[in-house]
Amino acid sequence: MMAPSTKDFRRVMGLFATGVAVVATYDGGHIRAATVNSFTSISLNPLLVLVSLREESRTAEAIRRSEGFSVNILREDGLALANHFAGNAQEGLSFQFLPFSGGPRLAGALASLGLRLETTYPGGDHLLFLGRVEALHEGEPGGPLVFWKGGYRLLRDPSLSPLQAADPFAPPIPPEPIYHET
Ligand SMILES: Cc1cc2nc3c(=O)[nH]c(=O)nc-3n(C[C@H](O)[C@H](O)[C@H](O)COP(=O)(O)OP(=O)(O)OC[C@H]3O[C@@H](n4cnc5c(N)ncnc54)[C@H](O)[C@@H]3O)c2cc1C
Repeated sequence: MMAPSTKDFRRVMGLFATGVAVVATYDGGHIRAATVNSFTSISLNPLLVLVSLREESRTAEAIRRSEGFSVNILREDGLALANHFAGNAQEGLSFQFLPFSGGPRLAGALASLGLRLETTYPGGDHLLFLGRVEALHEGEPGGPLVFWKGGYRLLRDPSLSPLQAADPFAPPIPPEPIYHET
């Protein structure tokens, strides 16, 4: 059997929908930030998350030298921010980083996590950063920016209740009442 190509791998992994986040850290007197979707929760005790960044990424280099970083989950109007921090500078875009734990917090994000750098692992051509959660910030309620099949998406209606609780140990979520016109 032929080994899968990078193109096939990207296409298949693109079927796994993710959110979009901006990872940020202090780099000397500056802030360095990049758009990521390789962000996942790892452990509940202790609270740990993981971010994977290309080895040559300037943000990866800065995190390696740092004591911590932040992950800022973008809301559905965060398209320009996602593009900007992916290296496509957006004309006239304004944003603000605020002091936070681990790394600076991106104002207006759906939520931010302040992380102490726990361990860095090699991961092929990427570096895996394990962060211990030191602070959480939740912004205004809203829907997330979603990445799927290589493109940005919106949830059709983020207020829709889930079909079932994803956590089998979580108490069941009562269904939204459905009203029929008579
Ligand atoms: C949806 C999506 C998901 C992605 N997921 C990942 C992933 O999981 N892992 C990965 O390695 N790559 C990912 N990328 C690609 C990654 O975002 C780019 O490679 C990015 O350029 C990071 O490279 P860098 O760390 O060298 O950052 P740079 O190229 O140095 O910075 C990225 C951009 O942010 C701007 N910027 C950085 N800091 C600041 C600041 N303080 N103020 C103003 N502007 C600033 C820079 O000018 C530049 O335009 C993703 C891209 C997209 C679109």
